[in-house]
Amino acid sequence: FWEFLQAKFKDEFAPVSYQTWIESAHPIKYENQKFFIAVPSSLHKEYWERNISTKVVEAAYEYGNQEIVPVILLEADLQKERNTPAATEPTATQKSPLAAAHLNSKYTFDSFVTGSGNQMAHAAALVVSEEPGETYNPLFIYGGVGLGKTHLMQAIGHRMLDRNPNANVKYISSESFANDFINSIQNRTQEEFRNEYRTVDLLLVDDIQFFADKEGTQEEFFHTFNTLYNTKKQIVLTCDRLPNEIPKLQERLVSRFKWGLSVDITAPDLETRTAILRKKAIAEKLEIPDDALSYIASQIDSNVRELEGALVRVQAFSTMKNADITIGLAAEALKDLKESKHQAGLTIPQIQNQVAKYFKISLDDLKGHKRNKNIVMPRQIAMYLSRELTDSSLPKIGQEFGGKDHTTVLHSCDKIAKLLESDLNIQHDLTNLKAALKD
Ligand code: ADP
Ligand code: MG
Repeated sequence: FWEFLQAKFKDEFAPVSYQTWIESAHPIKYENQKFFIAVPSSLHKEYWERNISTKVVEAAYEYGNQEIVPVILLEADLQKERNTPAATEPTATQKSPLAAAHLNSKYTFDSFVTGSGNQMAHAAALVVSEEPGETYNPLFIYGGVGLGKTHLMQAIGHRMLDRNPNANVKYISSESFANDFINSIQNRTQEEFRNEYRTVDLLLVDDIQFFADKEGTQEEFFHTFNTLYNTKKQIVLTCDRLPNEIPKLQERLVSRFKWGLSVDITAPDLETRTAILRKKAIAEKLEIPDDALSYIASQIDSNVRELEGALVRVQAFSTMKNADITIGLAAEALKDLKESKHQAGLTIPQIQNQVAKYFKISLDDLKGHKRNKNIVMPRQIAMYLSRELTDSSLPKIGQEFGGKDHTTVLHSCDKIAKLLESDLNIQHDLTNLKAALKD
C-alpha cells in the first residue's frame, strides 16, 4: 500500500512538495484499521494532518476498498515510546481533563494573537470564561474558515479547566453531536446521551451550520440547550454565518442563539498576521528574521490556517535546502504555491469587465442578483476565475459581487469546476477568457 501511495502522490504533488512531505515520511504499522505514519517534525505532522491524511483515506478505498484511519506520529515521540516501559502509558481510566473535554492543548488564550478582526470575539471569550453562564449565554462566534473560531472557543474551555480541573467541559463539533445522537437512538442509549450532554458546566459546539437540515438533531439540541441555559451553564457556539442565515434551522433555535451575544471574526490585517507568524515561529523554535515573517504575512492575506501552512512550507524548504530562512528563500518556497494559480496584478474588477464583455451582458447584471440563466452562468464563471486567478478570499470575492455570501461564491466555483469536467462549451469559454486576461 505504501508503494501505491508513493506512486499516487508522485503524480499528484510537485517534485519539491513530494520530496519535502512524502519522502521524509515512513510507514510504521497497521493495526485495528489504524495506519501509523512517522514524520520528522511537528510542522510535517501538521501538514500531513491537514493536507495529506484525507488523501490517504481516499487512496485506501481506491487500493482495496478499505477503511483506514491514518495516525501521524513524530519520529522523536516514537523513539521516546520505544525507550519507556509500557506500564507508564496512561490508561483510559486515567484520562486527563483535557482529553476528556476533547480540547487541543495548543488552542489556549496564551497562544491566541489579538488584532483587528478578532478583538471583539476575544474580549467576549474572556468575559465568558471569567463569568461562565452569567453574562453572554450563549456566546455565538461566527466568521469564515481558518480565522480562529475553534481556537478561541477551546481557549474558553482551557481557562475553565485551569481554574477548576473538575469542571465538566465538553467540546464537540455539530456533526459529532448529530452522530452521537443518532447512535444513541440506534443503540437505545438515549438516556446516557442526555446525561452526558445535559450535565456539563460548559458546552462548546463547533460549526453549527451543519445542524442545517437535521430535524431530529435540532430537536435534541433544543432540549440540551434549554436544560443547560436554565441551570446557568455556559454554551458557546461557532458558525460560518449568522444563525438566521443557516438553512432550515428551526426558528426557536435561531432565536435562542441570539439570546446572548453574537460576535464575528474577520480576516486579520498585515500587522496581526505578522504577529501570529512570529508567535508561531517562537513556539516552533524557528529562526526567522522579522523581514521574512512580514514577507510571508504579506503574501497570504486571508486565512490564518493558510498562513500557518505557508510557514510550514518555508520551514520545510529551508530544511531541505539546508539554508537559513530569508525573504529570498521564502519567496522561492511560496513561488509555486502562487504561480501555479495566481496571475500577478490581476484584479477582480478586471475579470468582471472581461467576462461581461465576453458574454455581452452588463457589469451590473454580472454583479447583481438576477437569476436568468444567461446571467447566472457568466457570474459563476467570473467568480470561478476570481478564485482561481487572484489570491482573494471567498468573502472578498463575495463582496466584489454585490455583497454575496462566501458560501454562494464557493457553490459557484464548485459548480463551474464540475461542469468543466464534461462541458466542452465551458471549457472553450474559459480558455478564451483566460487567454484574454493574460494580456
Ligand atoms: P476556524 O475554526 O475559524 O476555521 P481555527 O480556530 O481552526 O479556525 O484556526 C485555524 C488555525 O489558525 C489554527 O491552527 C489556529 O491556532 C490558528 N489561529 C487562528 N487565529 C489565530 C490567532 N488570532 N492567533 C494565533 N493562532 C490563530
Ligand atoms: Mg473551526
